[in-house]
Amino acid sequence: DVSAPAVTLTHRFADELPELAIAWRAEDCPAPRVLIADQRLAAELGLAPEQLTTGLLTGTEPPAGAHPVAQAYAGHQFGGYSPRLGDGRALLLGEIDGRDLHLKGSGRTPFARGGDGLAAVGPMLREFVVSTAMHALGIPTTRSLAVVATGRTVHREGPLPGAVLARVAASHLRVGSFQFARATGDTGLLRRLADHAISRHYPELTGDYLGFFDAVVAAQASLIARWMLVGFVHGVMNTDNMTISGETIDYGPCAFMEAVDPATVYSSIDTGGRYAYGNQPAIAQWNLARFAESLLPLLHDDQEQAVPLAVSSLERFGGLFDAAWTAGMHEKLGLTTARAQAATADPDVAAHSDADEALVTDLAAILRDARVDYTSFFRTLARAARGEADPARALFPDPTDFDSWLPRWLALKPDAAVMDRVNPIYIPRNHLVEEALAAATEGDLAPVERLVEVVAAPFEERPGLARYADPAPGDFGPYRTFC
Ligand code: AMP
Ligand code: MG
Ligand code: MG
Repeated sequence: DVSAPAVTLTHRFADELPELAIAWRAEDCPAPRVLIADQRLAAELGLAPEQLTTGLLTGTEPPAGAHPVAQAYAGHQFGGYSPRLGDGRALLLGEIDGRDLHLKGSGRTPFARGGDGLAAVGPMLREFVVSTAMHALGIPTTRSLAVVATGRTVHREGPLPGAVLARVAASHLRVGSFQFARATGDTGLLRRLADHAISRHYPELTGDYLGFFDAVVAAQASLIARWMLVGFVHGVMNTDNMTISGETIDYGPCAFMEAVDPATVYSSIDTGGRYAYGNQPAIAQWNLARFAESLLPLLHDDQEQAVPLAVSSLERFGGLFDAAWTAGMHEKLGLTTARAQAATADPDVAAHSDADEALVTDLAAILRDARVDYTSFFRTLARAARGEADPARALFPDPTDFDSWLPRWLALKPDAAVMDRVNPIYIPRNHLVEEALAAATEGDLAPVERLVEVVAAPFEERPGLARYADPAPGDFGPYRTFC
């Protein structure tokens, strides 16, 4: 569109870290068509609707002065180290308003290895839906700006319509970026990468590399607690899929847990359950240990002294995660923060606080034993706080344990309004996502648009949306995801 004002993209990453950037161009698209776009996000970036051209969103007509690059990174995938992964099918188009504008599915790059560099409509819309839901749930995440159908056929199990996702992130710096820089043996590059990351994400920590590591540990502890509190299973927590900014990234095989079970795995390739729901905190800490190893040359001139510094910082992860999880669980149960704060001052309330603790652990066991739908349970429990316990009770095949737990919780006078602010009613449920993606692949976008609308306001119950709140019907069967 020649009448739209020009978009300006900066190229700070490419300029400051040329060793990690390969100048590259997107592949041509035979018949580009915008399938869905987030106009609110566009506005946040200062982009008018007419500036969201298919040429921009597919990278085939980058703005004048842009310097698109494929980024280099390494990574541990399922525990095994790959020294050279990188953007095999993605491009960093540039930065806008300090954030990355990035494309996925834009064609092969020098990092593509055996891959075709492409993406299909279904998985890109899946990222759009789930990342939109995560943002609406208040969880730090990369955002989806648009999905554009390319008009190209992508071959997977069979032929599929191709697409490019335009995504916005605080940055695409990952643990794997640091592993790559460290492996070059060039400490100058490693320092430049850390300085770049600090300047973008933790500017108050200029020159303080241990403080930087601490900050990433804290950001990830908080992020993983938030995932756990909504039942999110990322599914592929490789070190190349863990950001330095603390945003969720890479919506490949992720899914929301329904029946409570720490062993929940959806990814078809996670056969050992390494990335199961309940393993996520431990895996995050394992990934952060790989990050610490990469940073060691910056932490101290004497490497033997650097190690204990990194270890003591890394060991804070457990306490930070537990604190975030407990505070979040108290909110989910309507036990207000005022109570939690008072508990530290007043011994009488402190006794209550021990009771709160036991209440949470006992509940976890009850939910796991009954395999209750996680999201429905917490939302329905707010009604119990309002004196209507039967709907929550009805979720249990045998309510005996719930019946003995309920009065203990009610005795703490839970605040139902607090609960409704933190316990979503609408999440992107697996059967709804699949149904919407199947329709979109056949050319009908209405179900995806509707689902995006619903999950974009997850806490606000609306009439006529009951089917979006219900768990998968029994005949949906076990769910498997692919990346
Ligand atoms: P992921 O599991 O999505 O984090 O991807 C791991 C690595 O595989 C990254 O380096 C991706 O760029 C690369 N990759 C994934 N799919 C493709 C594809 N279709 N073509 C080329 N590279 C790909
Ligand atoms: Mg990835
Ligand atoms: Mg992926």
